[in-house]
Amino acid sequence: MVNLAYMSEKRLYDMSIFTKAGHVSEEALGLHALSDLPESGVGTVEAHLSRCRHCRLDFKEIRDFISLFRAAVKSSEVH
Ligand SMILES: [Zn+2]
Repeated sequence: MVNLAYMSEKRLYDMSIFTKAGHVSEEALGLHALSDLPESGVGTVEAHLSRCRHCRLDFKEIRDFISLFRAAVKSSEVH
């Protein structure tokens, strides 16, 4: 599961976009979902997503998680 606290640190220079298995890392997918991926990484990630179903599914899961997380934050602000 994605660690939003870690992601928010935006440790981009420590982060590698690809895992050893050759897929996009969760961190990179998370940043991409948040539109926080540096421009130089966006094309690379998009190109991989366009030909990798595995990462597309991961990316969808992360986006769903982020929208749930944001909805939860929103509803907690109402109180
Ligand atoms: Zn992949």
